[in-house]
Amino acid sequence: MKIITLREGKERSLLRQHPWVFQGSIAKGGADLGETVRVQSHDGRFLAWAAFSPSSQIRVRAWSFDEAERIDAAFFQRRVQQAIELRRRLGIDSNGIRLIHGEADSLPGLIVDQYDDILSAQFLSAGTERWKDAIADALVAATGCPYIYERSDSGVRGLEGLAPVTGWLRHPETFEGYADGNRRSTEVTITENGWKLTLDVAEGHKTGYYLDQRDNRGLFAKLVKQFQCKTVLNCYSYTGGFSVAALEGGATEVTSVDSSGPALARANAHVTLNGYEASAHTALDADVNGTLRRFIKEGRTFDAIVLDPPKFAPSAAHADRASRAYKDINRLAFKLLNPGGLLLTFSCSGGIGAELFHKIVAGAGMDAQVNAYIIKRLEATPDHPTTVTFPEGEYLKGLVLVRKNESLVA
Ligand code: SAH
Repeated sequence: MKIITLREGKERSLLRQHPWVFQGSIAKGGADLGETVRVQSHDGRFLAWAAFSPSSQIRVRAWSFDEAERIDAAFFQRRVQQAIELRRRLGIDSNGIRLIHGEADSLPGLIVDQYDDILSAQFLSAGTERWKDAIADALVAATGCPYIYERSDSGVRGLEGLAPVTGWLRHPETFEGYADGNRRSTEVTITENGWKLTLDVAEGHKTGYYLDQRDNRGLFAKLVKQFQCKTVLNCYSYTGGFSVAALEGGATEVTSVDSSGPALARANAHVTLNGYEASAHTALDADVNGTLRRFIKEGRTFDAIVLDPPKFAPSAAHADRASRAYKDINRLAFKLLNPGGLLLTFSCSGGIGAELFHKIVAGAGMDAQVNAYIIKRLEATPDHPTTVTFPEGEYLKGLVLVRKNESLVA
């Protein structure tokens, strides 16, 4: 067993069960990519069993803080079972569920989403790469899902010295008619808030879909109804989850804007798949910022607007530039909002905290000379939990605003 010894005073974060050790905290020791190491304090006290990552800034990711625990296949079975037990107790009314949410589930670097009978998995750290087979076996055993599709094509793998990998990780040759070399299609249909939504685990973004917004899409359907919104603009729509929600809420003119053509094709398909008229929906393959500016010039307005942009700030270092980008789109959205209209606005940047995001949106309202109630704060669904030991896990934050009738400046 290789040993990693920390510099004096650098044991504090592991003692609080925060799972990361940065390169600069290590006094001596090294190991191969993903190898299990014993991490100890400068005076030899046990701190954690961990995975070593020789080229990453995050040099060590802890598996366990229990000296008696062995890191083996049975360990991964226990971790996977604990994560799935939580999801079972959450009673999520959908067959699209995040089963493993990385550090929060004490499996740093592992993301697993279940889409009906397919698990879509990202192995983003050296340790998860090393234990991939044991983890895959544990997942199949715990869920009964025969199929695992691997989407380890995220850029963060590069920081770990890992090449991208995609494709079937588990696909039984003889399962339910898929014998003779036939493969199960990578397309799958899930039910969310009672809607049918399709996705492709091979072609979609991330693992295929954004499950973290499930409850917020459900809430949006209710709000559109309560506020009797008819014209709805869904910015950064991806495959149109919020657009279907708007139609369920009684909207009659829904516009989805995204820069991904395939995502918009799916958004269109989702409208009719769920029994709504194709004519109630317009898909615009365009940049959101430019589209908002064009709509302002054209004098268009909307009863409800959703802003769910991609991560503008990958880390706190990008917070300034990202803040300006968030403020800009929110300012434009406020200008397009009818009095009494709804704005659902989000940030999924870990580098922008909830408080800062609140300030940015408030500033955007001031700039647009629009006053608005803030009636609710939003976050990710509970199958994307955070933990008390890992506050960095918090990333998605959102606000529900209702535009007031009066302007700020006469
Ligand atoms: N709201 C979606 C998820 C949005 S993810 C849902 O509920 O499923 C962010 C989306 O923004 C992606 O689909 C991406 O294609 C799109 N996107 C990124 N940059 C964009 C831009 N400048 N203009 C328009 N769309 C953009």
